[in-house]
Amino acid sequence: MNRLNFFISAMQEKKIKSAWILGMPLSRLTTIGVGGLCSVYILVRSVADLMEILKEIRKKRLRYKVIGNGSNLLFDDSGFKGIILKLTGKSFQAIKDLPGELVCGAGISSQKLLRFCMQKKIGGLEFLTGIPGTLGGMIRMNAGAFSQDIGGRVKRLRVLIPPSKLAWIKSASLRFEYRKLKGLPQGAIILQAALRKKASSRQSISEKVNFFRIEREKRRPKGKTFGSVFKNPEGLHAWEVIERIGLRGYRSGGACLSTCHPNWIVNSGHASSRDILRIIKIVKRKAKEKLNIDLETEVEYVENRKVRK
Ligand SMILES: Cc1cc2nc3c(=O)[nH]c(=O)nc-3n(C[C@H](O)[C@H](O)[C@H](O)COP(=O)(O)OP(=O)(O)OC[C@H]3O[C@@H](n4cnc5c(N)ncnc54)[C@H](O)[C@@H]3O)c2cc1C
Repeated sequence: MNRLNFFISAMQEKKIKSAWILGMPLSRLTTIGVGGLCSVYILVRSVADLMEILKEIRKKRLRYKVIGNGSNLLFDDSGFKGIILKLTGKSFQAIKDLPGELVCGAGISSQKLLRFCMQKKIGGLEFLTGIPGTLGGMIRMNAGAFSQDIGGRVKRLRVLIPPSKLAWIKSASLRFEYRKLKGLPQGAIILQAALRKKASSRQSISEKVNFFRIEREKRRPKGKTFGSVFKNPEGLHAWEVIERIGLRGYRSGGACLSTCHPNWIVNSGHASSRDILRIIKIVKRKAKEKLNIDLETEVEYVENRKVRK
């Protein structure tokens, strides 16, 4: 038996209630719709299960990755030899409306969070309209739009430091930068976040949400995508760089840089990670050659390294 089989047997012996799927296509777990199979996909039900699963992962020396909605991830065509964990249980989806703060599970979607805010007349998060992430993923990436970001709303985070240490981390110990969160302990998994509340009215929230929706729809390309591929370099938009180097609409196999939003890659239905990586490589090379700009990707590419021996 290999280590993965031992891992599955241990999960069965420990009567872990979280559901799991063997050989899940990663294309179904990501918005770009690309990627081979992962060895095991686990829909994590509770923090207790998560701890047990992480202990077994550690014992069996397996590789793992926590995902949210997979809206910023590019997995390889060869898949991911390891475990994919998604926080789907009730505790990861709950929202508690407390004095001065909202305490939310990391698995909650931006849409659900916004719906809740609308009901309870809580403002300040409207800019998340149209960002298709979970709270955990959005905090990890410090997702933002229209000059606001989620980091600006975070008071503290409840994290699990694998395999079993739980902690609350105050925002004073964290550094939210452009699409980056610094200060989390290595490998920490975000379980919950306490977000600052701002009283508002349903009308004001609804007006802002509609405004952001319309603004986004004006420039949103159709098709499977992961949003912006490159971060904006100092003083310039990444789409302008792509425009200037003449790569608007550039195609490789089933993937192309959108014609209406050049910093977005669109999967026309049969793209591979290889097509996408080729586009990323050529954009980076030409930006350097022609404009002396080092573009950095916003999207995270998850390589398929072998399980550690
Ligand atoms: C149509 C579209 C529009 C977009 N627009 C925007 C935009 O306007 N602004 C913007 O900032 N982004 C945008 N994005 C990108 C993406 O939605 C954000 O980066 C989002 O924050 C990712 O959230 P996710 O839940 O999908 O995370 P994933 O893509 O699943 O994961 C992202 C990273 O977070 C980590 N992670 C996920 N959950 C946890 C957790 N609980 N604990 C610790 N780490 C975790 C993952 O390991 C990974 O490293 C867009 C994407 C799309 C498809």
